[in-house]
Amino acid sequence: MYTLRSRSIPLNTDYDVIVVGGGPSGCTAAAAAARTGAKTLLLEATGSLGGMGTSGLVPAWCPFSDKERIIYRGLAETVFERSKALSPHVAPNDVDWVPIDPEGLKRIYDDLMQEYGVTVLFNTFLCDVDAENGEVHAIVTANKAGFTAYSAKTYIDCTGDGDLAVWAGARYEFEEDGEPMPSTLCFILSNVDLYAYLYHPKYGHRNGGIHPNNKKSFTHLLPNDDRFPEILDTHLCNNIIGPNTVGFNAGHLFGLDSTDPKSVSEAMMRGRRIAKQYRDALAAYFPEAFGNAYLVATAPVMGVRESRRIV
Ligand SMILES: Cc1cc2nc3c(=O)[nH]c(=O)nc-3n(C[C@H](O)[C@H](O)[C@H](O)COP(=O)(O)OP(=O)(O)OC[C@H]3O[C@@H](n4cnc5c(N)ncnc54)[C@H](O)[C@@H]3O)c2cc1C
Repeated sequence: MYTLRSRSIPLNTDYDVIVVGGGPSGCTAAAAAARTGAKTLLLEATGSLGGMGTSGLVPAWCPFSDKERIIYRGLAETVFERSKALSPHVAPNDVDWVPIDPEGLKRIYDDLMQEYGVTVLFNTFLCDVDAENGEVHAIVTANKAGFTAYSAKTYIDCTGDGDLAVWAGARYEFEEDGEPMPSTLCFILSNVDLYAYLYHPKYGHRNGGIHPNNKKSFTHLLPNDDRFPEILDTHLCNNIIGPNTVGFNAGHLFGLDSTDPKSVSEAMMRGRRIAKQYRDALAAYFPEAFGNAYLVATAPVMGVRESRRIV
């Protein structure tokens, strides 16, 4: 153990509500707080809002309907409709598995925060909480200005890992029986031939596609192909997210602990290798669509499906 030399850090008391984490939950929580008139600060560790939908490159919205009508309304629907409007290949009344243009979605959240008057601080990490008997006195952040403490009336934890709640003393649990759900480092391929991707007689999207639901797809051969040793299973979700551009939620990283930086760092490197192997496998098995595909990006943030659960 190392004892940090005791020193004072600046204390900011300007805000009524502080939201930590600028993913879908944090952005809507912050907008909802600000529209009631609360002075609201949103703290985000990365350089953009949107969480898994932008920094995580998750390529589609989970169904917004119960198969008959929309079941999420309010701010969620506002964001969803603005996001859908970025994708001209999506029918206006589509509500299930609507693709996400991650760059566009960043701007949608930026605009939303400005419309509601939320102050946003990017590249700002919650790193400590000063709490006693479950009451938070202040939270501590780190960024290029060094450490800053913030004291507010209300704090909202939208970190996905429950960082704020747990550091304030909340009880939590991890997956009880065995491993948590595996993680995925999502990625984007461009220069895809969308004509083949959609209409190829065997693997075209209109004919079953490359999703594992298509039992005839080569997808089922990948885990046993020695050329691609990092592809362990048939997980291969994919959506057109832009011109000649397909977003992938594919491949699994098992045994990752999102609260252990070393574990996440190793998984990031492995995730990048997996993405490259998917690109090469798709080019080998489906050259009509992916022969010239270019790996544009892997997500800068690991796609963690399961983490601490607040009790
Ligand atoms: C691999 C994967 C695939 C998925 N597939 C789909 C899908 O196809 N469709 C779908 O709709 N949903 C999908 N989901 C679920 C969806 O992504 C989540 O439900 C959603 O992102 C949760 O939103 P959130 O705001 O709670 O958390 P997140 O989106 O995780 O956002 C958390 C934010 O908090 C920030 N943060 C974390 N810790 C700190 C800290 N200490 N200080 C400051 N900021 C911090 C992060 O940078 C991030 O921006 C998937 C999730 C994963 C991981």
